[in-house]
Amino acid sequence: MRVKLLLVAMFYSACALCDTSNFQVTSVSKRAFIITEKDYGTNIGLIKTDAGVVAIDPMPGEKNLDTLYQIIQQHSKVPVSYVLNTHQHSDHTGGNTYFVEQGSKVVETVSQLPEFTEFVFKSHTSKDKVFYHSKSNSVFVGDIYDTSWHPTFYSGGLSGFNQAIEKILNIGNEDSLIIPGHGKPTSKVELRQFRAHTQAWVEQIKVLKDKGMSVEEIMNNDNVKALLHNFNLANKQNFIPETAFKRFIERTFTVIDSGK
Ligand SMILES: [Zn+2]
Repeated sequence: MRVKLLLVAMFYSACALCDTSNFQVTSVSKRAFIITEKDYGTNIGLIKTDAGVVAIDPMPGEKNLDTLYQIIQQHSKVPVSYVLNTHQHSDHTGGNTYFVEQGSKVVETVSQLPEFTEFVFKSHTSKDKVFYHSKSNSVFVGDIYDTSWHPTFYSGGLSGFNQAIEKILNIGNEDSLIIPGHGKPTSKVELRQFRAHTQAWVEQIKVLKDKGMSVEEIMNNDNVKALLHNFNLANKQNFIPETAFKRFIERTFTVIDSGK
């Protein structure tokens, strides 16, 4: 297996008042970590660079920010200097104010961070940023890629999504770790599968839509159910709620109608 991850201790004795049991800290390299609050789910990057400590999307839920701060202190020893965001949704930016109050600076670009390269796309939102940290060979791709949910390419449509994935596949090398906005990090192999599954999903929905089938009828189509299951990487019993399934089809209709 190309992607090697080390799970580090999940107990932090210095944080006496904080409940850290719901946090998982994954070590990518000696200087790069992924921190996740299990219920909240956003993958938070913590990277120790020569220019200072960088946090990517440091949001574990409002009530868990103090605990996140303590965990970061344990790993970095020094405060977070810079905060980067993959996009503007609150589950990624919701911790910005908290970190600014602790002295961190939210930066729009990586110009002050030579270890990073930044790429901008229109896929999940009108401005999605991807951050490549060369020293740890890790690519933080935000919600362009989600390994715990179906794809959400509503802003850029299928073409925006494909452009983003094509470029991400060319970042780093075959051993690069691809860190989605939510869900487990993967290699490029899974990212290629995600792209193929997304393509197949849109094509199938289009065929059924063109036949005049309603959203409800499509929801009951066995092929569509199987295609949805392709995104269930963790093989969850109930992958997504019915309402989310319905909305995914409705939004795919919108993407098809837009011609993007
Ligand atoms: Zn998100």
